[in-house]
Amino acid sequence: MVRTITTALGAWFQKSQRSLPWRGVGDPYAIWLSEVMLQQTRVATVIPYWNRFIQQFPDPAALAEAPLDEVLEMWAGLGYYSRGRNLHAAAKQIVELHHGSFPRDPQQIRQLPGIGEYTTAAICSIAFDEPLAVIDGNVERVLCRYLCLDGDHRKGAARTLLREAAEAALDRSHPGDHNQAMMDLGRTTCTPRSPDCRACPLASGCGAYASGDPTRWPLPKVRRANEEQWWATAVVVTRQEVLLWPNCGELLNGHMGTPMVRLDGPDGDAKFELLRLFKTLAIDAPELIGHADRFQHSITHRKLQVSPLVYRWNRSIPEGVKLLPFDAAHRVPALHRKAIDATKELLLETTS
Ligand code: SF4
Repeated sequence: MVRTITTALGAWFQKSQRSLPWRGVGDPYAIWLSEVMLQQTRVATVIPYWNRFIQQFPDPAALAEAPLDEVLEMWAGLGYYSRGRNLHAAAKQIVELHHGSFPRDPQQIRQLPGIGEYTTAAICSIAFDEPLAVIDGNVERVLCRYLCLDGDHRKGAARTLLREAAEAALDRSHPGDHNQAMMDLGRTTCTPRSPDCRACPLASGCGAYASGDPTRWPLPKVRRANEEQWWATAVVVTRQEVLLWPNCGELLNGHMGTPMVRLDGPDGDAKFELLRLFKTLAIDAPELIGHADRFQHSITHRKLQVSPLVYRWNRSIPEGVKLLPFDAAHRVPALHRKAIDATKELLLETTS
């Protein structure tokens, strides 16, 4: 039954595929970058990031040579920073173990940091025409609906059925195009809340469409409850700049940022906890200018309430600390950018 998907989808993709900068290049490194960036992020957001990355780091060797904080600075705004860290670690591994050439063997690709089954199948099929079926959230949705697959497709018998269907539907002569078509269809037509079944090339064989209630599939994921947390951050400033420390706390480990400390709760003593944090950074506490407005920030299942305390720095800059001009806050992760934005407002109020 799923074989009917193959031809219908092939014709649709030829007609309607989007022109994207990483399409048709055949370079596994470029495809890998795009696949990692596209996880949890929209295509329109990814395009400028991908262009900048490829220009700055045109191959694995260039990426491996760059300092991690430079890579993370380029990543700022894409979120899920572990992906940026893994890209860097994988590039180093490609240089060390494969002389800088992206490996062709799926087993070797799978062993690179941050590369799972999905990314391996995407790179191998698109760059090397390997007949490996990609299964991401978009493909799962299309197949669950097409087959009216009941039960939780993430485990057990339903998972096996879904995998078998993905393999059976795969166009083995054009696996790269097929996989991209499946993902595109899920992204653009068979969307989670409002599938455009009338425009779908699979409509004639789709069980969910025939049922009249296509969004009944797939079984929704049980969402983890959000945990509320309270944090304080020290925004230490000179006249024009903010001091950024490396490893500024457990939240965005590996980034340069404003040091952060977790509080007991909404009434936690931010000033006291930051004084303790300064001690661990081996510096005397700078002069406190004031409390900027508390802001909210979400990281996966955590909802953070962050209190920025603003300090004046008029000593020499400690080793390992970087200076960031106030107008370059876009270069740091959103969490730190919000702290800097709140600080700018406080400074404007105190000087006006
Ligand atoms: S017909 Fe509708 S439900 Fe079925 S695959 Fe196409 S868009 Fe999805």
